[in-house]
Amino acid sequence: MKMVYTNESLFLVNNTKNIIEAAGIVTFLKNEFSQGAAGEISAFDCWPEIWVQQDSDYEKAIAVVASTQKSISMDDWICNKCCEKNDASFEICWQCQHEQA
Ligand SMILES: [Zn+2]
Repeated sequence: MKMVYTNESLFLVNNTKNIIEAAGIVTFLKNEFSQGAAGEISAFDCWPEIWVQQDSDYEKAIAVVASTQKSISMDDWICNKCCEKNDASFEICWQCQHEQA
């Protein structure tokens, strides 16, 4: 069993789990109900986690997760040359024309 994804948002974790399972991979959640139970443990330890049942599914699951991250991260980006904030639809910085890294 291997962990393929974790996020503090149970909503995102559930979403990602659904997408991985749609690819035919058996997964299960850990820490699903531990939110709010944080006390002595650090908050990070309580993040819900997605694990794959079969280690052989790990690479495939990671690839699926990576593809979801790409669509989720269609977000504003920061130019690494001039530090200006750019809209996700821009491929080059509107201010200095530097390409998105
Ligand atoms: Zn720039």
